[in-house]
Amino acid sequence: MSSLGLEIREQFPILHQEVNGHPLVYLDSGASSQKPRAVIEAIKRYYENDHANVHRGVHTLGSRATDAYEEARDKVAAFLNAKFREEIIFTRGTTTALNLVASSYARSVCREGDEIVLTPMEHHSNLIPWQQVAKATGATLKYIPLQPDGTITLQDAENAITDKTKIVSMTYVSNVLGVMNPIQEVAAIAHRHGAKMVVDGAQSTPHVKVDVQQLDCDFYAFSGHKMCGPTGIGALYGKKELLERMEPIEFGGEMIDRVDLYESTFKDPPERFEGGTPIIAGAVGLGAAIDFLTEIGMDRIHAHDAYLAKIAYEQLSQIDGLTIYGPRDNRTGIVTFNMKDIHAHDVATVIDQEGVAIRAGHHCCQPLMRWLNVNATARASFYLYNTEDDVAKLAAALRNAEQFFD
Ligand code: PLP
Repeated sequence: MSSLGLEIREQFPILHQEVNGHPLVYLDSGASSQKPRAVIEAIKRYYENDHANVHRGVHTLGSRATDAYEEARDKVAAFLNAKFREEIIFTRGTTTALNLVASSYARSVCREGDEIVLTPMEHHSNLIPWQQVAKATGATLKYIPLQPDGTITLQDAENAITDKTKIVSMTYVSNVLGVMNPIQEVAAIAHRHGAKMVVDGAQSTPHVKVDVQQLDCDFYAFSGHKMCGPTGIGALYGKKELLERMEPIEFGGEMIDRVDLYESTFKDPPERFEGGTPIIAGAVGLGAAIDFLTEIGMDRIHAHDAYLAKIAYEQLSQIDGLTIYGPRDNRTGIVTFNMKDIHAHDVATVIDQEGVAIRAGHHCCQPLMRWLNVNATARASFYLYNTEDDVAKLAAALRNAEQFFD
């Protein structure tokens, strides 16, 4: 049993509404989480009191905005346990962060004959940037195969990662199967071969305590909107010595040191990678989300989300004709399934009539869908504000849907 959802729901205004005549049951946090009042208020307060552009003005609002933005960087650094605050670069989210690593770091180190190692469970945003690097540099992509339950083995990682490997990039938690990958162990293998470890933390950062020093990853990307923060903000963690060697990929204001007519020099990280007016209010909102999650405790959140996924797995396995994908255990808040040969979109549409919001589609994981031998799946994803009652309502709505389609 976990009481967190009941305790915390009150703080999420959006959850207290009816959808199609039923109380909303929001089970789509894997796509984007809802926002607590503390985050909404922090953004409002910032715009009502402190907003101006950062780093340039000498006036009071300019320094307040700069302080707010830089304080948010400190919060992200502490949340990930980064060694230095300069290791945190604000981005639009995971996609932009991974593209930054691929376009700057990877393109400068990869050559023909080098290898980039991935898994077939990657989200498109941790797949296509590497395809583009491979095309541009002549490096090749290599995949650690999946076990029948969608997990990977360290033996397969050992086999795939060799002295030719320059980069290993992997999701910490799969957005489809909910499985957690053994990042720390894979990073150790990568480092033994002189390769760098990149982690897609889009689905892990909201649910598990992340320690980039313990994982010993070289880069770590995440999105604020999946962890109670606003859309349009996320971050890239990169080891200082790597960021310092990397070229910027966006050029303009804020990131320069000296500009002459034919030549310019750039600031040190993180500013070097934050050209233009940054996402100031987004960073403030992300900082508030981090405070909110930290106060509850990431261990408690992890246990809660895993518990709901476990009981959902148990209840959904009782429903006729339902196939659940991925392993029974070691899930972080995600349960993905199909009902007979009914399209996942139809299942999601029917249960939406009962106020239950789930996602259906390929989840930006087309290769994984092919591996599962399906076009699409339905996905229920749980977060700290969900309750056992939400799980029961999902199961009841799916039982009704099963009869509806029968
Ligand atoms: N990686 C994973 C595993 C995801 O689940 C997502 C979003 O669903 C992303 C990357 C991309 O995140 P964003 O769209 O916030 O950049």
